[in-house]
Amino acid sequence: MKTCQVSIVVPCFNEDEVIEVFHRALISALEPTRRTFEICYVDDGSSDRTRLRIGSLATADRRVRYTSFSRNFGKEAAMLAGLRMSRGDAVVLMDADLQHPPELLPRMLELRQRGYDQVVARRDRAGEGVLRTLLSAFYYRAMGRCMDVEVVDGEGDFRLLSRTAVDAVLALPETNRFSKGIFSWIGFDTVGFTYRNIQRAAGRSKWGGRRLFNYGIDGLISFNSRPLRLAIHIGLALALAALGYALWTIAGVVLHGVAVPGYTTLLTAVVAIGGIQLATLGVIGEYVGRIYYEVKRRPHYVVRETSESPKAAPFDIPAGGHSGLSAPAAGRPRAGRAGSTAIGASRFRTVRQFLVFGMIGVINTAVYLGVYVSLNTWIPYLAAHVIGYVVSIVGSFLLNSYITCRTKPTWHAFVRYPLSSVVNLVLTGVLLYLGVSRLGMDKNVAAVAAGILATPFSFLLARWAIDSGAALARQSAGPAESSAGHTTP
Ligand code: UDP
Ligand code: MG
Repeated sequence: MKTCQVSIVVPCFNEDEVIEVFHRALISALEPTRRTFEICYVDDGSSDRTRLRIGSLATADRRVRYTSFSRNFGKEAAMLAGLRMSRGDAVVLMDADLQHPPELLPRMLELRQRGYDQVVARRDRAGEGVLRTLLSAFYYRAMGRCMDVEVVDGEGDFRLLSRTAVDAVLALPETNRFSKGIFSWIGFDTVGFTYRNIQRAAGRSKWGGRRLFNYGIDGLISFNSRPLRLAIHIGLALALAALGYALWTIAGVVLHGVAVPGYTTLLTAVVAIGGIQLATLGVIGEYVGRIYYEVKRRPHYVVRETSESPKAAPFDIPAGGHSGLSAPAAGRPRAGRAGSTAIGASRFRTVRQFLVFGMIGVINTAVYLGVYVSLNTWIPYLAAHVIGYVVSIVGSFLLNSYITCRTKPTWHAFVRYPLSSVVNLVLTGVLLYLGVSRLGMDKNVAAVAAGILATPFSFLLARWAIDSGAALARQSAGPAESSAGHTTP
């Protein structure tokens, strides 16, 4: 059999409108190069007719192969599957929407012939919104300072890799894959050139603001541990500041006697330090979460069918040779495994939500105090208290909906939400009473203990209010919206 010189790997997610135009353009660019080639399409769980289209392309042309996922696993997983499928001496990664012009392929192949292991086609930012350009420029500048590998603005996944480079990429076993960093990390002789940015031929970009933001965080965390170090620096700076403050207070006591206890200062300090501690815990939580996913050794994707075995559904098994990394045994379907990992994931989600809930609680206490302290000089203090309370409840509802439960706030949920505050009030009252009257605890210590003990219940109730409210809103909106609600990654 003739060896394959070039593999083109194309991840596709809902590219029904453009895939055939892309395919024709690709063939017209590849045939004149007189090289043997194959095209490896990876359908990333599209919900349109993409899978059928690439299936028929594969039936019509033996040079076309494909893998189709059981659901959307993300572009990183699709690229990995494509690289594992590929058999060519050189592999080119390309998007299906014609934003990576096939006309550039001959130039890339020529640079490969000169001995480069990576040929990167870098787009400029022509035609892109000012805000996105500015944010990207800022992001890459910040990344340049933070990351242990170099990631260049405009350098995406449109690149040619030699077989050696592909094998190096495939030898990296991490679950959380950040290709831009991986390509830079493997090294080898790299050359790049810039081309003019073009808009999508058809269809819509799948990278909304939130997905991009999360991708940015992935980039930051995948290749360094500097956020952890930053947390240590902030902690040390705060400890020093606290020491200074303590010395200042002691000096005040020695010089002027015992002063009136500073209630506001104390509370503000507790809230500020609590907030920083929780934010730091959040950073640590991000890393711990990643470790958790890494040690599970889950497959990166589940295959629904491939051109080689249309009905087989192996877990994470490459369709062709050059797997680089064999599919982990843990990826094979085994009774009970899916269930236990689902329970593990849901537990992890609850812990994350609880930490975030606590953090939002601290922020809201600060908001309440801020409103109360600034208003009570102008209006009666009880009115200031009510306004502060209402502002903090609305803020807490919005933050817990968007951040803790990752769902859109609804009126149904908003109506149920104050219930968690009422229960919190009653429960803390009962606990406080028990602590002081029955156990003889100090009043202040009992109040803190009651607050801590009641937090898990408030959390469960708040989550119930938000989730059940959102479910009710979906039901009343009808089935179309309810299925859309589940697409959140
Ligand atoms: N893609 C994918 N899985 C996803 C999202 C995108 O395979 O979950 C593919 C998509 O079909 C396209 C490429 O990745 O071929 C780039 O996606 P898109 O054009 O949406 O990104 P953008 O060009 O806006 O960065
Ligand atoms: Mg695109």
